[in-house]
Amino acid sequence: MEDCLFCKIIKGEIPSSKVYEDDMCYAFNDIDPKAPTHFLVIPKEHIPSAAAITPENSVYVAHIFEVIAKLAKEKGMDKGFRVVSNCGESAGQSVFHLHFHVMSGRDFTWPAG
Ligand code: AMP
Repeated sequence: MEDCLFCKIIKGEIPSSKVYEDDMCYAFNDIDPKAPTHFLVIPKEHIPSAAAITPENSVYVAHIFEVIAKLAKEKGMDKGFRVVSNCGESAGQSVFHLHFHVMSGRDFTWPAG
């Protein structure tokens, strides 16, 4: 997607603070962190949101969760972490390229904050 911010980040057209990369996904620190550790993991294929996950592209989601588990171990996030994917404007999605927020380093409340 030519005008997608996260597609541009994947292509290196917009700078980002890389956390991890492989052939299927890219992880980078959130520019406006909501926790001491806050990074985003995105598929390299443009999928607009969680509402657009299909049998054809769900392999990216499975892979991303494997990567999240690996990064959580490597980063010592053993006290716990939160994974969030906002889907749709009313849920707070502001970038329409599927992404998983991974946050750690503080206590979280539920359902908000
Ligand atoms: P959401 O609001 O759930 O769609 O999440 C989008 C996230 O992308 C927000 O937490 C933003 O802070 C983050 N974000 C926006 N632009 C950038 C950027 N250039 N680099 C890193 N994170 C970004």
